[in-house]
Amino acid sequence: MKKERETGRRLTFFIQTFGCQMNARDSEKLAGILTRIGFEPAEDEAADLVLYNTCTVRDNANQRVYGRLGHLNSLKKKNPDMLIALCGCMMQEESVIEKIRQSYRFVDIVFGTHNIFKLAELLYEKLTRRDRVIDIWQETDRIVEELPAERKYPFKSGVNIMFGCNNFCSYCIVPYVRGRERSRKPEDILLEIKRLAKDGVVEIMLLGQNVNSYGKNLKEPITFAELLRKIEEIEGIERIRFMTSHPKDLSGDLIEAIRDSKKICRHLHLPLQSGSSRILKEMNRHYDKGQYLGLVKKIREAVPDIALTTDIIVGFPGETEEDFLETMDVVEQVGYESAFTFIYSKRTGTPAAKMECQVPQEVVKNRFDRLLEKVQAIAAKRAGAYTGRVEPVLVEEVNAQDEALVTGRLGSNFVVHFPGSREMVGKIVNVELKECKGFYFYGEAIT
Ligand code: SF4
Repeated sequence: MKKERETGRRLTFFIQTFGCQMNARDSEKLAGILTRIGFEPAEDEAADLVLYNTCTVRDNANQRVYGRLGHLNSLKKKNPDMLIALCGCMMQEESVIEKIRQSYRFVDIVFGTHNIFKLAELLYEKLTRRDRVIDIWQETDRIVEELPAERKYPFKSGVNIMFGCNNFCSYCIVPYVRGRERSRKPEDILLEIKRLAKDGVVEIMLLGQNVNSYGKNLKEPITFAELLRKIEEIEGIERIRFMTSHPKDLSGDLIEAIRDSKKICRHLHLPLQSGSSRILKEMNRHYDKGQYLGLVKKIREAVPDIALTTDIIVGFPGETEEDFLETMDVVEQVGYESAFTFIYSKRTGTPAAKMECQVPQEVVKNRFDRLLEKVQAIAAKRAGAYTGRVEPVLVEEVNAQDEALVTGRLGSNFVVHFPGSREMVGKIVNVELKECKGFYFYGEAIT
């Protein structure tokens, strides 16, 4: 590349990822493309190219990006050749693009969620044309396979099985920024996983906004449960995880596939969002309190040792104290191993954003604190019950605070720290859980 000749060194890149595991997997592909065209990764934002892969699920995600852009501009003032690029969900919002156009003129390249595969082309356009490049696709039915990827972890990997979402929950912006559901062909997914296994991956996380809808748009439809059974056959893969399963269409067949599997981790993330049937209707979630509790009962009967986690929104428009107590009641009845709790965030363009009766912030804050207290108390009790057990743990890293310890995850997704060495990273070892610290453990490897 001309710029490389000018500088006499390889150009460097730094990718900052905001948001979910989908974005993390996209960032691995973006790093793969950049590496393939000769860039090398930099430690921090003092790089030739800084790329923000953005999230827009809540307003504070947008604010964080705007906040960081100021800092990038100051770096660019010191290094005018530096390139600043933005992609991801936030860039799919027209109001954001307009703001970037008007107020962030130092941003060089902007693209969205549907055309990440074009990064090399967009870079070339920028480096040859010198104007800023803004290329946002509003929609796509394409799935680009075989993109190179630089994995963050050598022993585990996210695997997209589908893109987009057709559920249109009334508070959620994802369907507007990630488009309509489109599933990858099973043979492409199986091929990718076989290659990952050959490359030393032992754990995969199957990714989709709602994996239950997998396969519905394929010429030869296949269900998610059927796909799981095929993945189960792949040698070298020891653990299978997946995210996210919508409660409205989690099938009996999927529950059986989990029950009968030797590899699917005993952890299911089952977003509740609210325990009030009235609010669930307003949220367009297509299940009510009774159906959700019935589903949990069915899952626990089939897979008694499964760990359940969830997402809960507090302060949805019109939420009354009675609605909130319904949520607290479901949390009590289910007893989650952990829960991600969120304060409702108005997303322009979603039906909920136009709803009357936005709940006053102090009321929301009070409910949020009460919910958090209950969730943490129950999680600590549930975690406590694991103390003394011997569980297989995938060792993920040497402990950042104490080099004599390594850190890993149980199948149920709890974290455990125990004495060990770097050689253990990437291996699955049996660990006795000695002490519970609320929602993580200290343990000892069983040799
Ligand atoms: S299922 Fe609902 S909450 Fe999840 S991504 Fe789709 S629209 Fe959003």
